[in-house]
Amino acid sequence: MRYCREEAPSDRSVAFAGYDLSSSGRLPLMREDYGSGSRIATDYEPFDGAKERTRLWVRMLVQTADEVVMDVGGVHAPVANALRRIMLVEVPTMAVEYVTVHRNSSILHDEQLAHRLGLVPVLADARAFAERPPGSAAATARDTLRFRLRVEAPSETTSTPNGGRAQSTAVYSDQIEWVPLDAAPQPAARPRLMPGILLAKLAPGQAIDLEMDAVKGYGQEHAKWSPVATAAYRMAPRVQITRDIIGEQAQRLVRLCPMHVFDIEDGTGRAVVRRERDCTRCEECVRVVRAPVIDTADDIEEDEGEGEEEAMPPEDAADTDASFARSIRLGHDPEHFIFSVESTGQYRADVIFLEALHILKHKCVRLLQEIQRRPEEEGFG
Ligand code: SF4
Repeated sequence: MRYCREEAPSDRSVAFAGYDLSSSGRLPLMREDYGSGSRIATDYEPFDGAKERTRLWVRMLVQTADEVVMDVGGVHAPVANALRRIMLVEVPTMAVEYVTVHRNSSILHDEQLAHRLGLVPVLADARAFAERPPGSAAATARDTLRFRLRVEAPSETTSTPNGGRAQSTAVYSDQIEWVPLDAAPQPAARPRLMPGILLAKLAPGQAIDLEMDAVKGYGQEHAKWSPVATAAYRMAPRVQITRDIIGEQAQRLVRLCPMHVFDIEDGTGRAVVRRERDCTRCEECVRVVRAPVIDTADDIEEDEGEGEEEAMPPEDAADTDASFARSIRLGHDPEHFIFSVESTGQYRADVIFLEALHILKHKCVRLLQEIQRRPEEEGFG
């Protein structure tokens, strides 16, 4: 983010350090076993391109403009993780990068205001724009969207329609106007910033007048260019009941699970897995609760006659808890991922996923070309 006062454009520029999201929010690869100690297919097979192509599948579960939840299957965790990271930091968007402050008498410092403007999503398709060379002063319609914010709060003496005196004036992103650059053809949809975002509050007589340039960028430089609020996945959980759990025990198991994964089968009274994908792997159902510490013989003697029964653990406490650990097997499907993507507004959420696939494909093609070219060039072919 760079901003400048009109009177001192170069030496007062402020550069805000970008931060890389690529290492944050990483989901762990869960390959451990729980419960019985036996494994549900977690080892990866060697990569086979032809096989990968035929087994990939996608099932859309929630699809709105801002959010998608989908199952992606037939790929390994490295591919799923590559897609997640590309969505976070490699799908380009437009964001405000240069701010020229003509006037700012609000309580906000210029830097704060510029930073705040940088975080407001710019509703324009960055794929239609070229990248503006860093430090380039000349903005063109090919690489820049220019906006202007000009607002002045009424003075203290101004009367409001309801007869009172002017109070503070809220400045919203809706008041920012697009300024077309040169005589380039007008885009079909008028570029704008996400409406409804409060930018500042002005006291009577205060004013803000500034120009801002939005340019194309990537989340790996700064999070303001990331097109997603969330792009995460988890491996599809697998829950199996390996021994019958019936009656009282089944009801206890149903109560134990905070995500209501288990249910009682009509007629048989047997516990069954009903909502497997809701399992969060909290392990509550396979947790072995240690039996309460039993008082020593001496203590029991001392306490004799008063609370002896309470000092003893329930007859079957340890066995009961341990039995769920032996009867339930928790795992995950290493080739089935539940993706959740939330857009910040520049693109539809499903478009972000498709764009990530597109970028990943291009990276693979480039890598292949490099591998095929290098040995010949370096005499290894
Ligand atoms: S691990 Fe937790 S959420 Fe999953 S089935 Fe067991 S108790 Fe329920």
